[in-house]
Parts: sequence; C-alpha cells; structure tokens
Amino acid sequence: MRLDSLEIDEKQENQEILRRYRRLLRSARPLLHDGDEALIREAFMTAVNAHRGTRRKSGEPYIYHPIAVAQIAAEEIGLGTTSIIAALLHDVVEDTEIELSELERRFGPKVAKIIDGLTKISGVFQTGTSQQAENFRKMLLTLSDDVRVILIKLADRLHNMRTLEAMPRNTQLKIANETIYLYAPLAHRLGLYAIKTELEDLYLKYTETEVYKEIAQKLAQSRTARNRFIKEFIGPLEAEIKKAGFNVTIKGRPKSIYSIFSKMRKQKVPFEDIYDLFAIRIIIDTTPENEKPACWQVYSIVTDFYKPNPDRLRDWISTPRSNGYESLHTTVMSKTGQWVEVQIRTMRMDEIAEKGYAAHWKYKDATTSSARENGLEQWITRVREMLERPGTSAVEFVNEFRNNLFNEEVYVFTPNGDLKILPAGATALDFAFEIHSQVGAHCLGAKVNNKLVPISYKIKNGDQIEILTSSKQKPSEDWLKIVATSKAVAKIKDHLRDERKKVAVDGKEIAERKLKALKLDMNEELLAELRAYFNQKSNLDLYFSLGKGIIDPAELKRFKEFKEAKAEGPALPPAKHLQASISKTLKGAESDVISIGDDLERVEYSLAKCCNPIRGDEVFGFVTINEGIKIHRTSCPNAPEMMANYGYRIIKVRWTAQVETAFLTGLRIAGTDRIGLINDVTKVISSELKVNMRSITIDTHDGVFDGKIMLYVSDTSHLDKLISKLKKVSGVVGISRFEN
Ligand code: MN
Repeated sequence: MRLDSLEIDEKQENQEILRRYRRLLRSARPLLHDGDEALIREAFMTAVNAHRGTRRKSGEPYIYHPIAVAQIAAEEIGLGTTSIIAALLHDVVEDTEIELSELERRFGPKVAKIIDGLTKISGVFQTGTSQQAENFRKMLLTLSDDVRVILIKLADRLHNMRTLEAMPRNTQLKIANETIYLYAPLAHRLGLYAIKTELEDLYLKYTETEVYKEIAQKLAQSRTARNRFIKEFIGPLEAEIKKAGFNVTIKGRPKSIYSIFSKMRKQKVPFEDIYDLFAIRIIIDTTPENEKPACWQVYSIVTDFYKPNPDRLRDWISTPRSNGYESLHTTVMSKTGQWVEVQIRTMRMDEIAEKGYAAHWKYKDATTSSARENGLEQWITRVREMLERPGTSAVEFVNEFRNNLFNEEVYVFTPNGDLKILPAGATALDFAFEIHSQVGAHCLGAKVNNKLVPISYKIKNGDQIEILTSSKQKPSEDWLKIVATSKAVAKIKDHLRDERKKVAVDGKEIAERKLKALKLDMNEELLAELRAYFNQKSNLDLYFSLGKGIIDPAELKRFKEFKEAKAEGPALPPAKHLQASISKTLKGAESDVISIGDDLERVEYSLAKCCNPIRGDEVFGFVTINEGIKIHRTSCPNAPEMMANYGYRIIKVRWTAQVETAFLTGLRIAGTDRIGLINDVTKVISSELKVNMRSITIDTHDGVFDGKIMLYVSDTSHLDKLISKLKKVSGVVGISRFEN
C-alpha cells in the first residue's frame, strides 16, 4: 500500500513539474527567438535530473524552486532566454555534482558567468570576515559585466521569501533581515518597485507578524469606503481627460503594508491617522514623441478639477530619478477635504517603474532623453568604483553600499552646466571629489551660485558649484565627517593612509633606536608583545603612534620592566580562554539553544543595551568578540545589520523561568498634566505591583505631560499588566515601551 501511494505521488508530482514548466514557457514565449525553446528545454531537463530526489524544507520537490525563479525572471522582471536558462540552473553548481565547466560547454560562457556569480563562495573563511558579506560582494562584482546576475538573485530571494513559512524561526529571521537590509533597497535602486514592495511586506510579515496582520485587516475593513471614494474622485476626471482625446487608464493604487507601517512608526501615529492609504495613477497610452506634452496636458486637466498643493509637485519626467523612474507626481485636494496623491505617466514609464532595468532595455530605442540611461549607468559606475577599491573588508563594503542605496539624489551643475548626480546629504567637498580626486584633495571651499560657502556646505538641487582649490590644502581626519559619498571617503582614507605611512617610517626608526638601547631584539615576537601592551592593532598603528608621539618613546622602558616582571609570574592569556569556551559552546549552534536563566550552559551572556530585552520578548543571541553573547530583541533596530552581515554569529536563545531576575525596561507616558498625576503614576508602579523604579524624568509644558520611567520587571506579562493599570490613571493618554 505504501509503495503504491508513493508511486502515485511521484506521478502526480511529475505532472505538476511539467505543468509549471509549461506555464514558464507560456510567459517566456513573447521574448523567445528561434531555437530558444530547445535550449530552455535542455536547461530544464538538466535541472530536473540534477535536483532529482532532493526536496525543499516544505517537502516539495526541489525543482519547483528553480522553475519559480525562472518564472519570476521572465514574467515579473521581463528577462529573456539567457536569464531563464541561468535561473533554471542557478542552484545546480552549488548543490549538485554538475560542474561549471560542463554548463559552459553546453550553454555558453554567458550563462556560465551568470551562474558563477550566483554560486556562493564555499570553503573556510578567515575569522573576523563575514561569509554573507563576501558572497554579496562577489555577486556585485558581476554587476558591471552583467546586471542579470543581480536580477536573478532578486528573483531567487523573492521566491525564498514567498516560501519562508517552511523554515525554522531563526532562519526566517536571518533571511528576512538580510532581505530588508540589502535586497529590498537593491530592488528599489534597480527600479523594481513591485518586487521591492513585496519583499518589504514579506519582511514585515515574518518579523512583526502582529502588526502586519493588524494593518492588513484594517486595510481590508476600510476597502469598501475607500473604493467608493476613489470612484467618486476618478469619475468626473476620467470623463474630462477622455473628452480631451487621451486614451488613459486610471486606477487607485493602495499603498503597501510596509509603507503604511513605516509611516505609522515614523510619525508615531495609529493606522487611523494615516490619510494617504492610496494614490491615484493615470496611465496614458501615447506615442514616444508625445509623452511629455501629454503628461503635462493631463496634469493641467487634473489641477483644473482639484486644487494642487504647490509644494508637492514632483517632475520626474524632465529629470528622471537615477534608477530610471519617470513620472509626474502631484498632491491635490479632493472635494471632501482630503489630500490625494496623483501620479501621471505613460505606459512605457509605467512598465519601467514596475519592472525596472529589464524594461529599460526593451525601450532603449524609444527613449527620448538620454538622461534616464545615464542615471543607472552612473550608479553602476559608482558601485564599480566601490568594488574596485582595495583594502576594504567585505562588511565595510556592504555597509557603505547599503548607505549609498538608500540615498535619494540631488542634481547639481558644474560651472560649464554639466549635470552631476550625487546622493542627498552630499557636501561641496563630495562634489569636489566627484569632479576629480586632486580637486577634492586640495579643496578649500566653493562658490555656490556665486556665493562663497565652506567645504561642509550641503548641496541642494539645482546648485551650480565652482570648487576653489589651493596647493597647500590637504585632507585631514575631520574631512571624513564632512563627506557623504563612499568615493570621497575612499580617497580621503587613501590620502590619510599615505600620510600615516610617512609618520610610521619615523616611528619605526624611533622604535629601532630605543629598543636597541634597551637591549631588546626587535623580532616578530617582541612586536606582538608591544602591540598587546600598547593596545595597537597592527605594526603600522604601533609605529604611527610612536612617530606621532601618541606613545611616548619613554614608555618603551616601562614596557621592558613589565615584560621582566611578567616573566617571573604565571603566564595566563585570559582573553584567549574565553574565546575558546564560546566557540566550543557554539559548535553546532544550529541545533543548540542557549537558555537564558539556566545555569547549566555556563555561557557568558548579557542583555543588549540597545533594545533592553525582558523575559518573554522574542530574542536572539549575538556572539560578540569580547563580551560573550549579547541578547537582543528580534525587533531591535540593529537586528537587520547584525543578521545581514554576521548571520553565522546569530544563535537561538530561549527564556527559562527558573531564576528570578528583574529586567530593566523603559516606559514612555504621555498625558495631560494635572496636579497629582505623577503621584498617581508612581503609586501604581511602586505600591500596587511592587515594581522597582530606577529613574523617572518628566517634561511638562503647556499642560502636556511627557514622562520617561526606567523600571525593573520580571517578564513581558508583568509589563503588560503594569501598562494596562497605568492606562487607567486619569489623564494618561498613551503609554509605550521605548528602547534607549
Ligand atoms: Mn535558489
């Protein structure tokens, strides 16, 4: 019986695999040329055979995954044959016996190169490096050759996020955090709005499940009323636009759950106070030559109907964003007194907005302005510069890369009128380095629109900038605080490093002379002792500190005395011991769970100060270099960065209730001020629930009361109980837990 049912399953599964494959072909067909289908079929068969017998965590046949990735690449990103083949084969080299050389022979160098970029680096990593960061960097190295590697990686990540349900909790958290930290911004940067939005929503679903559900539910509840409003708003407008002879589609687009969540958090308001839950989008079907005038004509009709907010007009058509986004945005007042965002664009612009870079290619011939191509090219150039810089660690690189991803741009001009795009927050000094590294290095100040400004001046859209230089000027440590672009940071650091080397040469001479006088041999062993004694990371640091006088050469004598004294006492390197015991405990960390409160594990841990976890919170452990394991809340603001860069240092932890401990936490209380309110609040805290209060600070002005209380509680349910009691105190309006 069992065998039979297995056989039937397999047959059904094979049919399902074929069904999914045919669906892929159907989506891809419009993009295919002669012979493409045969190639895709061969890739499909290769993948099926290679993954045969393996299953995903969900129990499904593994091949579902590469088919789904290829489907996303074709349907949602609009990629063609090469990408579909690469997507079908993307896990083959990493997970099966097949070698890259074989794929190259059968499918050509392009496919092989893409798959290579998608294959994780394996092997041993130096301690202190991050495998995740190294892999991310490796993937980006292919960016300048072939952006398709990243597009397929995004398709891969999207499918993994869609199927995250089957993963264990700690894997869910790691993948979700890595996604919000790197992949969603990357999708945004490449103009893939639909994918970016879905990635963000899925992140929220797995990290803040309750909030996610609540917003989704409230959105559903208000849908009918919203749709009625949208219909009434669009109705007369649509008639008028069509009367003017335009062929348009108008729709009301709901904002994503994540963007509503971000707004609630940023503005500290409840769902009910978010007014722009949707935007109206007008999509015009027109010829390439007519795009710009058509958009402005439609704008004119819209603003005849509804009064626009003059501060909220955004013209991304004359100057597209650097990810290629083009659209006209305005916010208008509806007849019922509500502000509504209206986006006006053509069908081509809409497709680029949804599908990004791939759609760019499709429309390359039809582009009426070269600026939109330039933006993305410039961005890729910037990334390439970052990648080619020697001596940066992968983690440093990933963080810088991410910072550059998030920034919006400012558009400025050279004295000749050339357009330069820099990230928002860039200064005159950044601009100088953008022009040339020598101009940057000797930058003294700038003239912006003919007015003299300091190098720290933050540049604004439309500024025309002339850099003033002096041959005597040179970069200093302080400059690093002024600049915002990674290019400028790199150039300044290069310069400082050269300076440092010069000082270090002097320092080395001093060291040699002094040590000789003290009759000490300057060998590697001694240098290691010196570094430890003076707490210097490298020989260069040591020499520099000596050369610069940070370490007084006379100190070397004291070092000798210390060394001789130590030789008589017992040798004990304490730091090393601790390291070893932690890594021993963490071996097989996948299966082990550290219990907080259990004495058995005897692992050093402490509660992170950035998020103050208390018993009952969902938490994870992070292995630090010197301070044992730190416990963080999964909602900690630092969690995405830690998980994205150091996933291997994350360990599962759970609370045990064995030991009575008190946890420090903070409450923020807002209310209307009245006599005796503070007294009532503190009474609830100290006398009623026997909670220990550590500190209380209160601000009152104009009858409004804003208090911060630090107190000790035993767990989350204890805290919840306290909060609900405090809410009942008359005059108290809001209570929330805060971090730091
Ligand atoms: Mn995959």
